[in-house]
Amino acid sequence: MTKQHPIIVIGAGPVGLATAAHLSEREQHFLVLEAGAQAGASMDEWAHIKLFSPWKYNVDAVARRLLETPSGAYAADWAMPRETSLPTGGELVEGYLKPLAAHPGLAPSIRFQHRVLAVSRVTDEGTGLDKTRTGGRDQALFLVRAQTPDGIQDFTARAVIDASGTWNTSNPVGRAGLEAPGEEEARTQGKITSPLPDPLGADREKLTGKTILVLGAGHSAANTLISLGRLKQENEDTQILWGLRGAANPIKLYGGGAADQLPARGQLGTSLRRLVENEHITLLENTSITRLTSDNQLHVQLADDREMTVDFIVPATGFRPDLGMLSELRLELDPAVEAPRQLGPLIDPEFHSCGTVSAHGEKVLAHPESNFYIVGMKSYGRAPTFLMATGYEQIRSIAAHLAGDAHAAAMVELDLPETGVCSTDLGGSCDSPVEESDGCRTVDTEPAGCCGEPQPITLGIPTGTQHGFTETQPAK
Ligand SMILES: Cc1cc2nc3c(=O)[nH]c(=O)nc-3n(C[C@H](O)[C@H](O)[C@H](O)COP(=O)(O)OP(=O)(O)OC[C@H]3O[C@@H](n4cnc5c(N)ncnc54)[C@H](O)[C@@H]3O)c2cc1C
Repeated sequence: MTKQHPIIVIGAGPVGLATAAHLSEREQHFLVLEAGAQAGASMDEWAHIKLFSPWKYNVDAVARRLLETPSGAYAADWAMPRETSLPTGGELVEGYLKPLAAHPGLAPSIRFQHRVLAVSRVTDEGTGLDKTRTGGRDQALFLVRAQTPDGIQDFTARAVIDASGTWNTSNPVGRAGLEAPGEEEARTQGKITSPLPDPLGADREKLTGKTILVLGAGHSAANTLISLGRLKQENEDTQILWGLRGAANPIKLYGGGAADQLPARGQLGTSLRRLVENEHITLLENTSITRLTSDNQLHVQLADDREMTVDFIVPATGFRPDLGMLSELRLELDPAVEAPRQLGPLIDPEFHSCGTVSAHGEKVLAHPESNFYIVGMKSYGRAPTFLMATGYEQIRSIAAHLAGDAHAAAMVELDLPETGVCSTDLGGSCDSPVEESDGCRTVDTEPAGCCGEPQPITLGIPTGTQHGFTETQPAK
């Protein structure tokens, strides 16, 4: 295999673009294939959400160096925003990802509107190797098939780094992890919204005066419910239903309130509790959906034979990785979390609720398929606690390995403060699965949400947890 073939990076989100910056600095030939029309296309869909990690942890060190260093005609007029402030998703896209994608060191190697459909292997002579073919596999190139504005195109690569995230594959709303009969139709008709609609912004008109069922118990659900609560203040006809898969446990749902060591988190839970107690939100336990039927509205059938009619479902049910496009590759994944095998146990939400993970790089992320890596949000599979800072360290190590720098590849460390706090709350995480008890299984024995009390030192983003609040409704 020759180095004339590029390293293909799938996705131009924060982790994909950071990968490009590292490969550029190491003078590796690379190509980024991005499905959207711009950098950070997924993050742009939740542009109204304020992140819980400050700028300092959201900008990759090499990307920052690239943006700040004049080179040739590049003036480097980019300035790092105040490191301690919390951007919205939109501000991160506009203030960091777009300038990075436009940098002359990266821009010529990024193709927008190139959606990767499949990855497989092929010999130098073009003979395809399906998954069962072992001979010469490690020396073979990758074949990356993409849907492009000019039709389907095949690319060859010497390595592939999949940084395509999980935003486009949210968990289904049906029970048991399966789509309910009728779910696809409801989705196609727009009756199942984005996981994070913007009730006080872009989706205001659509949601005003409607009946909306929000499923989930993580930050996303809380954020949407509180925004809908504000919408209801403006229009009484707006009906808000909050569906939990199991029984409601106030401590898991609302956290410690005023006693919470994280004031903003306490505030989030307190606001939610108030909305429920004042009957602005109707809490529904055991919302296990068995069937959806669409006409003008959406008829929801539950496992216990209850039925309800709503206008929209908000699926704040967490995400899962799209593994379909990787089905011709030899992956080694944790059977539960669907993260790389060695990483899975470190982040399994059954045992780890708060993003606690030791620094990990090329070695932990490797698969039997040599020179193929899943990084970023997708590397966490179904686990909900991924942080960009973790992804930046993942790709630093992988870029070093692919450039032949074994020493740098092996040195993995996370530069995070020691006294950080759990990035999750309300029994879950920023995007936990639908169960209210999801975040950690020890929750039954711990009094103050998934992280117990006091808050453990974990991965360490000092949140101040504004996360979950939209721009238009700052935490008070
Ligand atoms: C609401 C929310 C808030 C979060 N807050 C924080 C926070 O405060 N701090 C933090 O550290 N992390 C946070 N995260 C977690 C995580 O860091 C972000 O989701 C981050 O965007 C992940 O970056 P990524 O590059 O791995 O994936 P993404 O940002 O999802 O980017 C993936 C890119 O790949 C593209 N793509 C997808 N499929 C294909 C394909 N088949 N072919 C080509 N391109 C494709 C997408 O269009 C997208 O541009 C949050 C997540 C969510 C959902």
